[in-house]
Amino acid sequence: MTTRRQIIRIVPTFSLMTVAGATALLAGCGDKKPVDVAAPAVTPMPAPAPAAPEAPPASPSAAATGPLVDEKDPAAVGLGYVADASRADKTKYPQYATGQACSNCSLYLGAAGSEQGGCSLFPGKQVAAKGWCSAWAKKAA
Ligand code: SF4
Repeated sequence: MTTRRQIIRIVPTFSLMTVAGATALLAGCGDKKPVDVAAPAVTPMPAPAPAAPEAPPASPSAAATGPLVDEKDPAAVGLGYVADASRADKTKYPQYATGQACSNCSLYLGAAGSEQGGCSLFPGKQVAAKGWCSAWAKKAA
């Protein structure tokens, strides 16, 4: 038989255990985010392949061999190329200014003083040094 004195000793202990248990349960119901135990391992990205070396630019001498661009060539027509800059279509290409010519264009590959030379826009062909097209860009001094 349990005595009154034993009950007085047991009740506080039981109460503390109940409070502790309830607290643990409430903590478990909180809005904590679940821990992702099975997170996928991060796979390192493979190193990029080394860039292939660029082909050397065509040398002016290599570009200076080839036929002259025909003004009727579709690419030439598209750019408004003329073998003599004085014949440039000033209505269609108002950006043309007297003095502009292939020989002073940054895309001209011919040697200084040459009558004709390569052009970056017409690979394998040559343009007249005194020619012009709408892609003319002033050669750096
Ligand atoms: Fe001449 Fe320059 Fe036009 Fe080539 S890009 S055709 S060098 S004006």
